[in-house]
Formats: sequence, structure tokens, C-alpha cells
Amino acid sequence: MFNLSRQVKCPICHKLTAWKGYPEFTDRLHCQYCEAFIVVYEEYLRDMLRQDISQTMARYTIAGACHNPVLIKNVIRQNGLIKDRY
Ligand SMILES: [Zn+2]
Repeated sequence: MFNLSRQVKCPICHKLTAWKGYPEFTDRLHCQYCEAFIVVYEEYLRDMLRQDISQTMARYTIAGACHNPVLIKNVIRQNGLIKDRY
């Protein structure tokens, strides 16, 4: 699930730096140790969403899941793709 600490590993020194407060989409995160540029907030959010979607999809790749209509309907309903009329 989401990285609630909002920590990001610096690609240069590999130490953790965290977003603080409520950043704007264009705000840039720099390492608090070596001051290297790490990421823009909008890019950080996109990466977080990609990871969350990948983890959600991985949970449903168990054997036989694609043949289970109840499971498929639940996944679709949870993602707002269909209404409860089905
Ligand atoms: Zn660093």
C-alpha cells in the first residue's frame, strides 16, 4: 500500500529523505544529506500509484483467478468500472 512516511531513497548516497508538509506538483525533493536532486512531487505521486496498482493486480494473479466471476466482479466494482446493478 501507500508509502505513508513519503520517504524516498537518494540515488546517490542511498539515504532516506522524506517529503514534508503539502508539496505542490512542481516541488522538487533534494537529498537532506548530499543535496542531490531526487524527484519532482508529481513524478513521485505517479510512481506511488503505479506501485499500488501493480501490488493490487499481483494479488489477483493467483491461479484460477481469471476464471472466478465473483472475484472478477469484485475487482471491477472496487475500481468503479461498473455499478452495483450487476
Ligand atoms: Zn543523497
